[in-house]
Amino acid sequence: MPKNKKLIVANWKMNPQSLVEAKKLFLGVKKTASGTSNVQTVICPPNVFISELNKLYSGHRVSFGAQDVFWKEKGSYTGEISPEEIKSVGAEYVILGHSEARAFGETNEIVNKKVIASLKAGLNVILCIGESKRDAHALYLKFLTEQLKTALLSVGRKELKNLIVAYEPIWAIGKTDEDAISPHQMHEMYIFIKKTLTELYDKKIALNIPIIYGGSAEPDNVNELLVEGEVDGFLVGHASLEAREFNEILKIANKK
Ligand code: PEP
Repeated sequence: MPKNKKLIVANWKMNPQSLVEAKKLFLGVKKTASGTSNVQTVICPPNVFISELNKLYSGHRVSFGAQDVFWKEKGSYTGEISPEEIKSVGAEYVILGHSEARAFGETNEIVNKKVIASLKAGLNVILCIGESKRDAHALYLKFLTEQLKTALLSVGRKELKNLIVAYEPIWAIGKTDEDAISPHQMHEMYIFIKKTLTELYDKKIALNIPIIYGGSAEPDNVNELLVEGEVDGFLVGHASLEAREFNEILKIANKK
């Protein structure tokens, strides 16, 4: 994972509905992504499209990622895909622990198995954490600590060079820039996550782990989140499905 670059990850989720449309969307962002030298763009389409989109690109400024993987290397696991398999079609990153996967029953323990298997296979892991709501007693911080701690159980220090933490408060996902986190709140969370990682490992390791934000990141709020929120990049959902909006985000991040 390149250092000193902003990481802008497109989470296309289960969109678009055909390979033709996926190619069109990718070609709509390819030029801007190829020209933004201070940004590493990661496109996470539905897994079935990775291989074909990969054929349309040959540089280093754009990488591809999966939206999930299974934790076993191979075998009788109908419907699942292993980290090695997804790597073999061109994925370098994987999103794990996304709230939409957790909503279907994915536990911290399952996320941990996937993190271990993906790092072992050499994938860069984008580990998502985030609370569904905030409470006056700040119990959500305990919830986030638990998510991080369990997801990273038995993960060795050396493997952490390929880890990215995506802070995605569920209350901010799929809305508008006005509902997203404020830069001040983001800065607090940035410090909190670094502190938690310091307690789990040490300060040097914590400082090197990029923290990105996801939850209605749009052209109108990314600038202040980068400047005041100190984030290292974004996980972009709905705004990544509009080439014009996503390109705008890439250009803003490129200036920081
Ligand atoms: C997401 O679900 O990962 C996400 C960031 O979505 P959105 O940008 O649509 O809030």
